[in-house]
Amino acid sequence: MSARSSKASFAALTDVGLVREHNEDAVLAEPPLYAVADGLGGHLAGEVASAIAIATLQREAPDAPDPKALARAVRAANAAVIEAAEEGRGRSGMGTTLTAAIVSGAHIAVAQVGDSRAYLLGREGLERLTEDHSMVADMIRRGTLTQEEARSHPNRSVITRALGSDPNMYADTYDVYAEPGDRLLLASDGLTGMLEDAEIAQVLRSVPDPEVAARTLVDAANDAGGHDNISVVIVDIEGRVRDDHAAVADPASRARAAERGDRVTSARAWFAAVTFALAVVLVVLGSAYLTWNYARSQAFLTAEDGYVVVYRGLPGELAGFTLRWREIETTVPVDALDPVVAGRLSGALRVENMAAARELVDTYRSQVETEPSDPDLLQPQPIPAPTSP
Ligand code: MN
Repeated sequence: MSARSSKASFAALTDVGLVREHNEDAVLAEPPLYAVADGLGGHLAGEVASAIAIATLQREAPDAPDPKALARAVRAANAAVIEAAEEGRGRSGMGTTLTAAIVSGAHIAVAQVGDSRAYLLGREGLERLTEDHSMVADMIRRGTLTQEEARSHPNRSVITRALGSDPNMYADTYDVYAEPGDRLLLASDGLTGMLEDAEIAQVLRSVPDPEVAARTLVDAANDAGGHDNISVVIVDIEGRVRDDHAAVADPASRARAAERGDRVTSARAWFAAVTFALAVVLVVLGSAYLTWNYARSQAFLTAEDGYVVVYRGLPGELAGFTLRWREIETTVPVDALDPVVAGRLSGALRVENMAAARELVDTYRSQVETEPSDPDLLQPQPIPAPTSP
């Protein structure tokens, strides 16, 4: 495919994965610009958002690794996604992550929004350059969640910053001085959610050709389940750090000057903090509401003081709370029921919903009422004539 005769120094690959029907990710590898975008909002929204973000970045990105200029291009991409939704292209509520890098020699500028990551494989191993803008990443930073728990957390895909909603959104930027032989990786969470960093490092270290390495990573993520779209951009760092940066590159041989975002005004930072706090409150309230709603749809039967009782909700407790409402106290004695049923009622007998619970109570009631205490009663009984009111 490639026209380059020498060994390729970069590769970009995106794959739908094994579970999703559409690929909403987008990748870009046009030296010196590289990017990964992970679209959000579902079919005909996520892929529109990620495509617009990449196209705008292509147009607006600087030629040199200037983190501030790259962050401005990411902001332009944000504005373009918002504008598209307003004009009816894609859907309102669509969004995308965007992690972009400009590579010149061994100098790398990175701008990032969302949970698509940039990594650098160097002599000391694989280093994560970016910090995810995600709920679980915040919980890990606060120490309330471990990396391992984050992997299976139900809210692991909730991101706290994305392109497409907040006109004041800003990118985190990083100014990185790498070394020849290092390897830059940009990846969507379809890769990093399926593979441990150590597994990623192993592939990057052992597969020299970037195109083969990209394919190997995608295959490994699919082997691990392929739960999400998988995107990978690999760039082999070949050049040297320019002389004017030598002082920065020394003495640690690779110094990383991370400018934590272009947070130019404190007002903007304050606004962002308030927005973030609101987002967290909304997520918590949203989860609570969904749980409550689910509980309201459930029902179970149990025995109380020898009689069958119907509850709406869930047996047991959830995070210290009980979510059940006593709906029906019946006159059906548990002792009169089939012993197996009676045994199940000593715990909680869950049914699909309240209608199913009522139906089951009716069944029990008719069983109890026709319970033959006298063999004669096994004979068909005359149906009583309906009485008029
Ligand atoms: Mn994803």
